[in-house]
Order: sequence, then structure tokens, then C-alpha cells
Amino acid sequence: MHDDLSLLLNSLNDAQRQAVAAPRGRQLVLAGAGSGKTRVLVHRIAWLIQVEHASAHSILSVTFTNKAAAEMRQRIEQLLGLNPAGMWVGTFHGLAHRLLRAHWQEAGLAQNFQILDSDDQQRLVKRVIRELGLDDNKWPARQAQWFINGQKDEGLRPQHIQASGDLFLATMRTIYEAYEAACARAGVIDFSELLLRALDLWRDQPGLLAHYQKRFRHVLVDEFQDTNAVQYAWLRLLAQGGDSLMVVGDDDQSIYGWRGAKIENLHQYSQDFPDVDTVRLEQNYRSTATILKAANALIANNQGRLGKELWTDGEEGEPLALYAAYNEHDEARYVVEGIERAIKDGMARSDIAILYRSNAQSRVLEEALLRERIPYRIYGGQRFFERAEIKNAMAYLRLLQTRHNDAALERVINLPARGIGEKTVEALRDFARQQDLSLWAAIHEATGLKAITGRAASALNAFVELIDELALKVEGLPLHSMAQRVIEESGLLAYHRDEKGEKGQTRVENLEELVSAARAFDHYEGEEGDEAQTPLAAFLDHASLEAGEQQAAEHEDSVQLMTLHSAKGLEFPLVFLVGLEEGLFPHKMSLEEPGRLEEERRLAYVGITRAMQRLIMSYAETRRLYGSETYNKVSRFVREIPAGLVQEVRLSNSISRPYGQNTQHAAGSMFAGAAVPDTGFNLGQRVRHALFGEGVILNFEGSGAQARVQVNFAQEGSKWLMLGYAKLEAL
Ligand code: ATP
Ligand code: MG
Repeated sequence: MHDDLSLLLNSLNDAQRQAVAAPRGRQLVLAGAGSGKTRVLVHRIAWLIQVEHASAHSILSVTFTNKAAAEMRQRIEQLLGLNPAGMWVGTFHGLAHRLLRAHWQEAGLAQNFQILDSDDQQRLVKRVIRELGLDDNKWPARQAQWFINGQKDEGLRPQHIQASGDLFLATMRTIYEAYEAACARAGVIDFSELLLRALDLWRDQPGLLAHYQKRFRHVLVDEFQDTNAVQYAWLRLLAQGGDSLMVVGDDDQSIYGWRGAKIENLHQYSQDFPDVDTVRLEQNYRSTATILKAANALIANNQGRLGKELWTDGEEGEPLALYAAYNEHDEARYVVEGIERAIKDGMARSDIAILYRSNAQSRVLEEALLRERIPYRIYGGQRFFERAEIKNAMAYLRLLQTRHNDAALERVINLPARGIGEKTVEALRDFARQQDLSLWAAIHEATGLKAITGRAASALNAFVELIDELALKVEGLPLHSMAQRVIEESGLLAYHRDEKGEKGQTRVENLEELVSAARAFDHYEGEEGDEAQTPLAAFLDHASLEAGEQQAAEHEDSVQLMTLHSAKGLEFPLVFLVGLEEGLFPHKMSLEEPGRLEEERRLAYVGITRAMQRLIMSYAETRRLYGSETYNKVSRFVREIPAGLVQEVRLSNSISRPYGQNTQHAAGSMFAGAAVPDTGFNLGQRVRHALFGEGVILNFEGSGAQARVQVNFAQEGSKWLMLGYAKLEAL
């Protein structure tokens, strides 16, 4: 066989090879986690180029994150030995954005439209609600924002909403309508709108659609189970009449139902394209047999699956570990000690991931990592471009780009303080609404007409002058100098420098980091189809679009922290799955709805199947999160894993407990029979608790009235109890 071909096909199993080398046509690769779906997709692209002689120009590939897109390019380049220029690889949002930039006119957008992130969207919705004269306590902006995005994800505009006497729906429709008008006025577009506009573009401009249909003969989609209605409709139109379409996915990993993703699209696809060839992959190459068994057993609890069993001929591997922590600090300490041990044994930091259900859980873990000076990186959460000081600086840059961006203007009109009070801004808003103007235009009119006078008017004029002068000064400068001038002359840098303590220091550092980030765009020359885009415009879009994924140096070796949602598609030799508690995971909001609970279980399935060699799970019996303390049971998902695959971790001397120097440590089951000092209880002893029933003492710390014991209850699992309160009865 030809050398290149053997490179492409040799590293695949039969089913994978069949999919990669299939004749042109439509395919569905439906398979469980770690079975090589993404690998098939990448090899298919290389095959199309190398063997089918498809031009890279004719390929469009959709991935779930920008990180995945970058990896995909890299892997194709490796396989082909060349950089496939002209290929479109990106997320749905990224691709939609690219189209809209090139065809802003046809899409009915302002040429310099800007992307509204979720935070700014909420502000704008709030303003709209107030302008409508509605009480924003009764009609919270968050709720309306959620409603609007939900409608857009389904492809619905205000006129599609039948309120028929329903006050809630009628009000939401009114807000939605006014919000759309406000967006149009300000020349901004939110994330859901990016997708919907791109779909409208196909529907309203048949000529344009035909052009792209002709161009993109080959369309490929990864993580297809998480496409929403609008994304699917967009794809379907694009791929109609194309040469080949490959979608790969796993119904068991559909985890964005809460954002409108539809597993049903998997069925819909086979209906819309009757000639679909379905390929199933059943061999898992990622995880040990033990990890795989655990994942299979867990997901078997869901109903209505398309049904796939995965097998592996890999090693059994070690059992899963489960640690019952006393609280979240104890959990973090346990995780960090495990990480230190793994690193000592030669594991790279980047091979280790900590996965959690909710962003807020990262703080305590971060603290523990910082204390031990272990470098880490967070995906998701407070991202660089979402930090307040960065958004402030970006707002100034946005104003330089277009003065009519109301969200940006409101953000910085009085930051740093320049004597423009909330009252003045309120008056300005009223005026803007009456006259149907942007706030920037309203300033000119209002001060000209003397609708606003005196100190307020001169403060406003000073602000206008500041921005206009800044714009003149930075014209023609390279982008990073522009950013530098803006953070200095806006007063932002001085403002944060004067802030006391570490916080101000970090903010100054972040602003400096922004200048370096801008430097990467100094020589930006515009994307194909939109060569006119300036470095500034490209940078602003970059900030909005890529906020989700940090751009930290790729080679830096650090432990990876992320939510389960952002771990999709990734793999790590060692995975810590933390916070496995009822109420947290499964999340308490999902407990009432069976559908939601199943989605949580799929999320657990995603988490478990990220692990290649070792999976370590933990939960905290008490946890302080969002400011309140809860007392928790171990997650049902842990109980759904066969007990034989899980080893409960006992404390050992190497694990220090959080209760001061003179705490006495037990060495767990090694010392079965040892006395809990001054209490009359022993390790291994059977006891009864009024609420939890019978159990066995596994561990202890402290002594006498201060002693705590860990008891493994037959019904409730293991718990740490204060002996002084627990009133344990010896059996
Ligand atoms: P997920 O559902 O989590 O996205 P996936 O199905 O996309 O998983 P991949 O990420 O493509 O799976 O593959 C999982 C791992 O198995 C990767 O490390 C990949 O390189 C490896 N792998 C896949 N197929 C083979 C094969 N035929 N031989 C050896 N390794 C393979
Ligand atoms: Mg994958």
C-alpha cells in the first residue's frame, strides 16, 4: 500500500477504517466515549485531501471548542505533512461569526457590529426592562435573558410567540422585541443571535447559500449530539447537495440539553438524509477495563438510550478510589496530596485533571494548589477576557471602534469616576429612548438642547472629548500601543494602581497582559473574505469569542481544572472527580425532572470516561458553597458503580487532617482494633446511630470529647461524626 495511505489507515481498526475510507456520501458515526470518533473525523479529512484529492478549500469541519479546532488542524497537518490552508475549522459560533463578518450587509448588520457577551447582554436586557416601565424585581433580567436565548436557540423570533392571554409570555415577548430593537440600535449581536442570523442568511439569500453549498463539498461535525435546532437547520441547508457529510456523536454524552441541544437530531439526521450509512465503533482505546466497566454500569441506568456497549482489550487497571472528605477543604487537601504523589512518581502535571460540576467549586481547590505551589490552569470560569478590569479596558477600545455601543459606553462612562452620576445617566437613557438614539448620540443632542445642563453637561462633554481625542491619538498606531495608550489615558491604570492590596496589583498585571495579548494582532491582515477587517476589530471579536478558552502558553506544564461540561472530548491519564454529592452532582435543580437527572448522569459518564489510567472520586460530607453550609450524602452516581470496582480510601499518616498540629491520626484499617483515645470506642467496632442505622468505625481523629470518627453505615455510606454529638451506641 502507498506510504501515505498506510499512515492514514494503519492506526485504525476495521470499523474506523471503513468510515475513513468510505465512498463519498453521508455517514453517521455513532459510538461511545473514547472509541476514536474524533480520530476517525480527523483521518477522514486527511483521506479526503490525500486520496480523494479534495481541495482543503472545500472542507468545513465543526468542532465543539476552539481548542479542539486548533488540535484538529495540528493533527491533520501531522498526517499530511502540510498545512491545509483554506479549510474552515471552528465552532458553530466561530463559523457563523466568520460568515456574518463577510456578509454583514446581506445579514442586515452594521459593518462594525460587535458581539455582546452574556454579562453585557444581561445589562442590556435589564435596561430594556426598565425602559418599558416594568419592575425588574418582578421581571428579573436573568429570567428574561434566559427566555430570549431559549427562543433564539429554537429559532423563534418575537412574532413567533403566541402569548394568547398569557401574561408571562406576553411580557417576555414585549421585552424580547424591545431588546432586539436595542441591539440593532447599538450594532451589537449576542451569541444565540450569531447562530440565528447565520441561519437566516441561508434562508433569505439563496444565491449565497448556493455559493457555499458549492464550495463546501465536504462537511464534518464532531460532538453532533449537542447541536441545537438552529445549528442543525444551518447544517442541513449547507450540506444539502454536497458530496460528503460525516457527523460523529454519542447520545450518552449529550450534556447541553439545558441550552437547547437536541439528542433527537441524531434521529432527525437519518430521516432528513435517508441514505445515511451508520457506523458503530465499539472498542474503547482510552481507559482501563475497570474505568470502562464503571462507566458502562453507570450509564445503563438511563432509559431510551440508543444502546452501545464498549469493550477494551486493555489492562484491568487499578480500582477507582473514593474518598469521603470531612469538608471541602479536606477534599482539596486530599486531591492536592494525590497530585503531589503522582508528580513525584513522574507524571506530568498536564496529565492530571480535576473535574467538578460547578465553577464555584474551583476556588477551594485553587487555594490548596497555590499553597503547595502547584501550577494549574483553569478552563472556563473567570476567564481572562471576562475579568472586570479587562472588560473595562475593552469597553474603551470598543468605543473607539464604534461610539454607539451603548453597553460599552455605560460600562465606562463614569469609570474611573468623573462626576457623571447615575441620575445623569438615567436622564440620558430616557432621552435616548425618546429620540431613538444611541447614548453617544444622545449626549450630543441632550447637551446641545440643554436637556442636561450644568456640571453634568460639562462632565459629559469632557467624556466625549476624552474618547474623541483618544481616537485621534491612537490612529495608525500598532494595536498594542493603542491598547497601552487607552489603559493609560482613560485613567484605568492609575485607578487600579491606587487600589489597595493584592487585588489592585493583579488588576494592573492583567491590564499589562492585555497589551501583550493585543500585540499578537499588530500584524493582522484580515481573514479570507474580509480583508478589510482592522486589527482592532479582529481583537475585539477575539476577546468576545475566545473568552471561553484561555490562551495561556501551550507548553506550560500545569494541572488542568475545569467543569465537567468543558471536559468533553478531552482525556487525561489521571482524573480527580470531586464533589460527588447528592444536591451538587446530581445538581438539586435536576432532581425533580427525570430528563434533567438523566442529563446529569450523562455528565457523570462524560467525567468518568475522561480518565485513561486512574480515576479518583471524592465527596465532602459538609460543604460550604455559595455561602451556606450543607450536609451531604454521597452521590447516587457513585452508588451506581459496582462496589467491586471502587476502593474506599482510608486515611493514612501521610494525609494530614485540618485540625492543628497535635491531631492524632489513625492509620485506618491497618490498625483495626486500635482505641479511639478516651472514648471507649475502637476501630472496627460496630455501632448504631439513631438516624443512620448500623455501621462500623473506620477511622478517627482527636480524642475524648473532641474526637471525630468515620463510620461506614450500611445504608448511608461513610460519614464523619463528632463523637460528642453523635450519641453512638456500641453494639
Ligand atoms: P469522546 O467521545 O470522549 O470524544 P472519541 O470517541 O472522540 O472520544 P478519541 O478521542 O478519538 O475518541 O480517541 C480516544 C483515544 O483512543 C485517543 O487517545 C485516540 O488516539 C485513541 N485511539 C482511537 N482509535 C485508536 C486505534 N485504532 N488505535 C489506537 N489508539 C486509538
Ligand atoms: Mg471525541
